[in-house]
Amino acid sequence: MVLVLAFVSFAAPATELEIRVIYDNTSARADMTEHWGYAAVVTFRGRRVLFDSGTRPPLFMENLKKAGVDPATIESAVISHDHADHRSGIHLLYPQNRSMTVYYLDKFVPQAFADAEAVHMKPLRVTGPREIVPGVFTTGIVEGQPPEQSLAIETSKGIVMLTGCSHPGVIRMVEAVERQRGKDRIRLLLGGFHLFQMDADQVAPIISRLQLLRVGSVIPAHCSGDLAKQMFQKAFGKDYDTAGAGKVITLD
Ligand SMILES: [Zn+2]
Ligand SMILES: [Zn+2]
Repeated sequence: MVLVLAFVSFAAPATELEIRVIYDNTSARADMTEHWGYAAVVTFRGRRVLFDSGTRPPLFMENLKKAGVDPATIESAVISHDHADHRSGIHLLYPQNRSMTVYYLDKFVPQAFADAEAVHMKPLRVTGPREIVPGVFTTGIVEGQPPEQSLAIETSKGIVMLTGCSHPGVIRMVEAVERQRGKDRIRLLLGGFHLFQMDADQVAPIISRLQLLRVGSVIPAHCSGDLAKQMFQKAFGKDYDTAGAGKVITLD
């Protein structure tokens, strides 16, 4: 007798939430290559969502394999914005799992949809906030240059928020989540904060504002910049951590 399961089963982590960094400007593992771009795999209560997909598709696929993620186990993919360092890898991944639901923003450039079409991928066009899998939400469009979406994961310990590049501004991304999911609830903020071109005088008020918004802990990655990372480390102390390709983040 053949038993057909509705969901792909895999060895889900014992913890409620696990985030594996797949693609980042730095590397946390000697055998994983660092490169400008971002991608992470979120496993929440046994359901898997890819957030962004890096710059070079073959490197993205290689890192995904090294991180132990079988493409068949990815149920949905959310692409934060239409820049090539976040949306390129999906074109190589999708043909390996055509049952995956892909979420773009309705405001992505026409080229992004043309590239999707080339691999017969039909991304859903997100406008407002929506639930991706139970407990995992996209903010929908946050206006900026370009517009961007973030992920908010409703864990039992508060919200874990994942940003791609934060082009609209990391504060605006956080405010969007607070508006949608409630204030003072962000337990962890991680991803690209886009502060790499800013000096200390510009970064300082952003850190103060995030502390005022009661963001619990931070893991700045990708385009956050070395100076900002140092300043976050100083301001957040034990509530700061580093990212990098190969890093596995769990919430204790
Ligand atoms: Zn970008
Ligand atoms: Zn980027």
